[in-house]
Amino acid sequence: MAKPNMTPVKTPMPNQDPAVRAHNFEEVALGYTEEMAHEEATRCLNCKHRPCVSGCPVNVRIPDFIAKVAEGDYEGAYQVITSTNALPAISGRVCPQESQCESKCVRGIKGEPVGIGRLERFVADWHRIHNADEKPAKPQPNGHKVAVVGSGPSSLTCASDLAKQGYQVTIFEAFHTAGGVLVYGIPEFRLPKAIVQGEVDKLKALGVEVMTNMVIGKVLSIDELFEDMGFEAVFIGTGAGLPRFMGIPGEGYAGVCSANEYLTRTNLYQPDEGISGGLRHTHPQEQGSGRRRRRQRGHGRLSLRPETGCGQGLHRLPPLHGGDARPERGDRARSGGGHRLPPALQPGRGHR
Ligand SMILES: Cc1cc2nc3c(=O)[nH]c(=O)nc-3n(C[C@H](O)[C@H](O)[C@H](O)COP(=O)(O)OP(=O)(O)OC[C@H]3O[C@@H](n4cnc5c(N)ncnc54)[C@H](O)[C@@H]3O)c2cc1C
Ligand code: SF4
Repeated sequence: MAKPNMTPVKTPMPNQDPAVRAHNFEEVALGYTEEMAHEEATRCLNCKHRPCVSGCPVNVRIPDFIAKVAEGDYEGAYQVITSTNALPAISGRVCPQESQCESKCVRGIKGEPVGIGRLERFVADWHRIHNADEKPAKPQPNGHKVAVVGSGPSSLTCASDLAKQGYQVTIFEAFHTAGGVLVYGIPEFRLPKAIVQGEVDKLKALGVEVMTNMVIGKVLSIDELFEDMGFEAVFIGTGAGLPRFMGIPGEGYAGVCSANEYLTRTNLYQPDEGISGGLRHTHPQEQGSGRRRRRQRGHGRLSLRPETGCGQGLHRLPPLHGGDARPERGDRARSGGGHRLPPALQPGRGHR
């Protein structure tokens, strides 16, 4: 092994210039170049007792992948990471490495730890850029069907692991977009939605079916998944979206909503992108007459547009005061299902 690079600080991450980034929502961190990745990888001491691995919830073989980066074998590094982590481009960006793997790194004793997350991100991005047309080989089907409810990182990981073993996997997601909090909670400047979509597309290429607008418990029950649809197991990864209200005066006023509901509506329901019905910042003069006025509920600059068409009229936003959005079976077949916020995110408390 070559002499390690004993620089006490991490190789700096290039970032957007603050004067530029103040005017956009694009990713702030730009990622390492190959030279930077090599410099950082050579800070790793390849410790025999591997303390960093014990800090990683999915046991990524960190020194092994970093050694591959130092050798310039980026594809080899990717294979090491993905043998235990299905989502390295995501975890390389948003995993709290500072309190996990990097907190255990021996280089952190006398300086900064190795930039494990930055290297993981570099490897995942390198793989994506150099394998844009990659069509993963579909594994031999093993004849078993599994339903996965929700499409956040836990569900994407579960679906990926099962699909690679030959299971026929179907993801049922309540929203019209897959990704869970990764797409509606974590902002674009930290985790671009295209990265998450890339992971969803990879799953589809593996043969995973992704059904959106499917609120399990409303559109289909768990029993129906087992008995009518023939699934042999159901993984429930519905997240922890239930808000806790503080019981303070005013929390029931129009325009006051839970953080999760706010994030969901602003990130997933953008009327200008064709999906309609979100919290929309409207100038009072925009709240015109006719069709638009009929579709708006709300006051002043923030207005909720609860029921509008999207594309071919497939999306129906949740009624603000409950009500059962469960469609008739024929409707479901035609439209992909009515849409409500998942139970945990229903707005009943915020908008009265
Ligand atoms: C604002 C915010 C920022 C965060 N930032 C970070 C970060 O920087 N780094 C980090 O590591 N973690 C972060 N987290 C935490 C992280 O996002 C979560 O731990 C993670 O998303 C949980 O994944 P999950 O798969 O369990 O559920 P989720 O991501 O919550 O996904 C659950 C999915 O299930 C769907 N669903 C719910 N009910 C149903 C139903 N009945 N039928 C069908 N589908 C349903 C939901 O629509 C959703 O898509 C953040 C969380 C929030 C809220
Ligand atoms: S603890 Fe730090 S230096 Fe040691 S192997 Fe892990 S990343 Fe490398």
